[in-house]
Amino acid sequence: MKDSTITRLIYFLKKENSTNLLPIIEKIIDNKRINIEEGLSLFNTNSLALLSCLATIVRQKKNGNNVYYIKNVHIEPTNICAFNCKFCSYSQSKKQWDLTLEEIIEKIKTISNDITEIHITGGVHPEKDLNYYINLALEIKKSFKNIHLKAYSVVELDYVFKKEKINYKKGIQLLKDAGVDSIPGGGQKYSMIT
Ligand code: SF4
Repeated sequence: MKDSTITRLIYFLKKENSTNLLPIIEKIIDNKRINIEEGLSLFNTNSLALLSCLATIVRQKKNGNNVYYIKNVHIEPTNICAFNCKFCSYSQSKKQWDLTLEEIIEKIKTISNDITEIHITGGVHPEKDLNYYINLALEIKKSFKNIHLKAYSVVELDYVFKKEKINYKKGIQLLKDAGVDSIPGGGQKYSMIT
């Protein structure tokens, strides 16, 4: 481990008055698995700097200085949303958009030769149903068979599954069958507009 990383770690520990976390940190440095209670203690520190320092230690141990990335296209079908999360620029945008399926396919076409992933997240449109999400995935996979489709945030899925009164397992299976390969994280319900 680099000396500068250790110095930063000690600095953040003292600054945040988090020396009680030392036993957990020693386990991480020694490549030992932490348990759920220890994970929760880290979660509750509120020190992003300390956590990022620990994450850097683990990353450097696993991958050294190698960095991996993918090239993707990010599609946001709509910014119309049933929610109003504080940090979201959508909810503050005055200009609303709602792309058609054709517009989405056209956007992807322009760079499809140069990407390995299509990433789709958008607002939680209150009028869209599960069929909309399924059809979008089917149409995209029909046109771009070999590109990984990472689509729909958990907030969108949670909303539409509840609306359709189906459980998560069934809903996720329907989307997988339609061609969704994985889902992104992110999104937070702050307060309802509608
Ligand atoms: S649910 Fe997503 S799109 Fe809607 S306000 Fe929250 S972050 Fe923004």
